[in-house]
Amino acid sequence: MAMKKCKDCGAEISKSAKTCPHCGKKQKHTGLTTVLIILVILLGVGVATSINDTTNPTSSQTSENAKATLEKFNQIQTGMTYQEVVEIMGEEGTLSTESSYSDQTMQIYYWYAKNGISNATISFTNGVVSAKSQIGLE
Ligand SMILES: [Zn+2]
Repeated sequence: MAMKKCKDCGAEISKSAKTCPHCGKKQKHTGLTTVLIILVILLGVGVATSINDTTNPTSSQTSENAKATLEKFNQIQTGMTYQEVVEIMGEEGTLSTESSYSDQTMQIYYWYAKNGISNATISFTNGVVSAKSQIGLE
C-alpha cells in the first residue's frame, strides 16, 4: 500500500485514505481532479466542434442536384457518350449490365432519382447512347 503524509498532522497514512485516521482531516486530491475535469472539457469541446464540421447544410443540397430528373433525362440524346450523360446527370451512373458480342460492347447504366427508386436506364453501345428509358422520374 502506497503511503503519504497527512497535510495537517504529518502522520503517515494510506494514499487511498479519504480522511486522516490520526486527526480526521479530509485528504484532498484537487490536483489530479482538476486536470481530469479540464481534459473532459477539452474532449467535449473537440467532439462538439467536429460534429459542427460534418453537419454542413450545403453538402446535402449538392447531392440532391446530382440526382436524375425527367428534365435531365429529356436532354439525353442517342449518340451521346457516357461522359456527356454524366455531365447532364451530375454524377456517375451505376453499371447494371455489360456484355459484348464480337465487335459490339453494350453497357446499361442506372441513374437514380433522389427518392432512390425512380431511375433513368441508359443503354450504351460501343460507348454511345443507343437506348434510354425511365421509371417514375419527375
Ligand atoms: Zn492527520
